[in-house]
Amino acid sequence: MEIHFLGTAASEGIPNVYCSCAVCEQARSAPGKHRRTRSSALVDRQIQIDISPEFTCQLARDGIDARKITDLLFTHTHPDHFNIGDLYSRMVGFGHGINQTLNLYGNDIAISECARLLSGYSQERFKLNLAVPFITIERGGYRLTPLLANHAVWEFCYLWFIEKDGKSLFYGHDSGWFPELTWQWLAGKHIDLTVLECTLGFNGETHPNNHMSIEAILAAQEKLKELGCHDDQSQLVLSHISHNVKMNHQELEKLMLSHGILVAWDGLKMEI
Ligand SMILES: [Zn+2]
Ligand SMILES: [Zn+2]
Ligand SMILES: [Zn+2]
Repeated sequence: MEIHFLGTAASEGIPNVYCSCAVCEQARSAPGKHRRTRSSALVDRQIQIDISPEFTCQLARDGIDARKITDLLFTHTHPDHFNIGDLYSRMVGFGHGINQTLNLYGNDIAISECARLLSGYSQERFKLNLAVPFITIERGGYRLTPLLANHAVWEFCYLWFIEKDGKSLFYGHDSGWFPELTWQWLAGKHIDLTVLECTLGFNGETHPNNHMSIEAILAAQEKLKELGCHDDQSQLVLSHISHNVKMNHQELEKLMLSHGILVAWDGLKMEI
């Protein structure tokens, strides 16, 4: 299974276009890995997780053909993850020669919003699927399970657990310290690659709500080992990184590598 990080920033992006902090200024003067677009990922060039405001630019940057994407999983409907306006280009009259259905999976708010925006959509172009927490969807040899996050107040937000051919990817953001039901579901399940977020930086809290701090990432790393999810071969990778962490890519990478954790960058591909 391949995971391709299309974007790795938290909601403001790096640089935040309005911000003059040191991290944003560095991303302007020396872009490279310092520059991050909003978070989204692609599995096997086929299953997309979230659609970021920079979706079309991310595809052009990395040479991805959107016509080969068959499934789009939504974590939640915050605007950095839910740029569904770009899906309008798939509507009849807006896109031509489209013979394949794009399957959309999300919570009730995500799916209702897609139905509203894509009103009158052709069944050949889109299939809207309501994803229910902890209920696995079997799809083309993949097992896709939405787990509950600890994130927005008025919406069930999802973390996606993706399995195929004995390999497993846990896409674990946006979320603060995971809800007990999610830890219980994960217990004993082997994970090859876990993606956590890095939105809050150091804040002194190991179990924050809404987003993860660096203390929470390290606590979650320990808990994943305790529960038997991670072994020596498992990889932990950070995405959804904020300028508020107050570290540039190299600084965060150096800190995290000392804990055996990788820091993703835009365009990174990993094979499990
Ligand atoms: Zn977010
Ligand atoms: Zn900034
Ligand atoms: Zn969010």
